[in-house]
Amino acid sequence: MNLVLLGAPGSGKGTQAKKLIDKYSIPEISTGDILRKAVADGTPLGSDAKAFMERGELVPNSIVFGMVHARLKREDCKKGYIFEGFPRNAAQAVALDKMLSVMNIPLAVVVTIDVDRNELIKRMTGRRICSDCGQLYNIYLLPPKKDDVCDKCGGGFFRRNDDKEETVKKRLDLFEAEKNPLIDYYRKKGILKSVTGSGSVSDIFLKVCAAVDGSKASSVRERRP
Ligand code: AMP
Repeated sequence: MNLVLLGAPGSGKGTQAKKLIDKYSIPEISTGDILRKAVADGTPLGSDAKAFMERGELVPNSIVFGMVHARLKREDCKKGYIFEGFPRNAAQAVALDKMLSVMNIPLAVVVTIDVDRNELIKRMTGRRICSDCGQLYNIYLLPPKKDDVCDKCGGGFFRRNDDKEETVKKRLDLFEAEKNPLIDYYRKKGILKSVTGSGSVSDIFLKVCAAVDGSKASSVRERRP
């Protein structure tokens, strides 16, 4: 199964991707993770990418696509792949299609996880993490019993730098600016499925699996004479 999981920061796509990996035994390919590793390993491509990443800009396609191509050629992608955080815009989607077509591993389905903007802001700005045991809380949605004290170990909390309200809004603005052309591109190709990203993680996972399995069934039907 070859798929893309699309969603805003805070939409829970990372969590859903991990569950899909277990269910379908295919790897997740996150360009953000690949780039961070290249930077940490000090590879030549990593040092080229570093400055762009530090400025919060997109890394040039020549670097990103070289890395994605190498990743797709690895043995564990034989049964399929899940792209997460990639493609970022319609231009990358077009270039990705070209590359996948040459490799003969085209996309089967693109699943978007849709969450209301105000809900995303609450999810990210409300996130608190225990400094001692790493337990996650949300002051709006999943508060601790006592303010600023971890229920599990009594530790104090910290916030991720990119969960501050101004940064959250900036990240959402960036995502929204690129989202519509990207989604339109996949809708026109007829491979877009949208699920509502509200409810429990397992409820959302059921909807994501229905979208993925539905696309498998329809591609089998299409292949029949
Ligand atoms: P992420 O963890 O996905 O937010 O990515 C972190 C940084 O890596 C981004 O701010 C970009 O600089 C870079 N990056 C990740 N994915 C891509 C991509 N598909 N195209 C270009 N740059 C990317």
